[in-house]
This record gives sequence, C-alpha cells and structure tokens, in this order.
Amino acid sequence: MSWEDSEPVNHACPCGKSTYFVMDRSDDWGRFEQRWGMDCHQCARNYRLYSYVTFHKGLRYEAHGWAKKTLFDELMSCNKECDVARGRLQRHLMRNYKARWLEHFAGTNKKAVWCALTREGDSYPSLGTFYDHVRRGGLERVLMGYLTDRHADIVVRVLRLKDEKLDAMAEQIQATLAKMQKKETELRSALFT
Ligand SMILES: [Zn+2]
Repeated sequence: MSWEDSEPVNHACPCGKSTYFVMDRSDDWGRFEQRWGMDCHQCARNYRLYSYVTFHKGLRYEAHGWAKKTLFDELMSCNKECDVARGRLQRHLMRNYKARWLEHFAGTNKKAVWCALTREGDSYPSLGTFYDHVRRGGLERVLMGYLTDRHADIVVRVLRLKDEKLDAMAEQIQATLAKMQKKETELRSALFT
C-alpha cells in the first residue's frame, strides 16, 4: 500500500527565526500519520522531535512536538536507567529461580497452572487465552515469560519467595518508573507545537 504525502505546511520554529514543517500522510487503508521536520539550524541543535502515542475519541494516533534537548536527554537517560533496572531484575530471576519455577509446574495440568498464575482467573489472561498461548508457544515458553519484572510479583507469590534483594530491585524499578513518568509529564507539558 502506498502512502500519499500532502504538501508540507510550515510553522514558526521555537526560536521564531525560521520554520519547521508538518506533512500529512495517508494511505488507502485510512491510516494517517504525520512527518515533522526542522528547517531551523539553531532549533535543530536545541530541540528534539518527541513522538508519543495517544488516543482521541477512541482512535489511536501518534502525537508530535518539539522538546528541549536537555529535557529530552534527561528523559532518555531515565528510560535507560529503567531498562537497566529491569534487566537486572530479570537476570536475577533467571539465574536464581528459573529451574525452581519450571520444576514447580512439572507434571501439573494446564488448567491448574493457569489457576496458580492467575489466582483462578483473577488476572490476565483468561483460560482461553492461556490455552492459546500454550498451544502457540509451549508451556515452558509461557512460564519463562513470567520471569520478568512485570510478573515478578506472581513468581514471588507462587513460589512463596522471601528475597530481599529481589524486593529491593522491584522497588528500584518503581522509583525509576515514577521518575520517568514525572519527566515525561514535564516534557509533554512543555512541548512546542
Ligand atoms: Zn528556530
């Protein structure tokens, strides 16, 4: 499917001495996106294009704006910090609990595994979706998917773990996430559009 570009529309850049352009693009499937580009050399040095997914009247679209480079760099370093913390926790889970986690469910039927993971359907996924995941990836792969920061609480609950190091890592992730969200809010509210 081919995209059709509209004529670029120019807007004043943040410093006011030049412009940036916005081009609307759409295709036969009714998909729509925008391309933004900076014409101003000075602003190209001091700003970065920031894009994020948002919703308007139930439709998902990508919004854009110019973020001050300092804020943008700070957000990127928060992102990185968060990724590093997540990776550390995941490695900790894999290294210390992978064998125990898989053994815990050895010989257990699929429905019982699902019951343990979701507290009998209290959380995602539904039984049907779980069967679907197992059919497609195999039970071991599905179980391995729980050895991440997002599901660490489930692993802790099921295996009844008491691991202060793990708790500290999870707390650190929460703290970096909170910092990242704060930075993101700050950046978005100061976007130049
Ligand atoms: Zn400018």
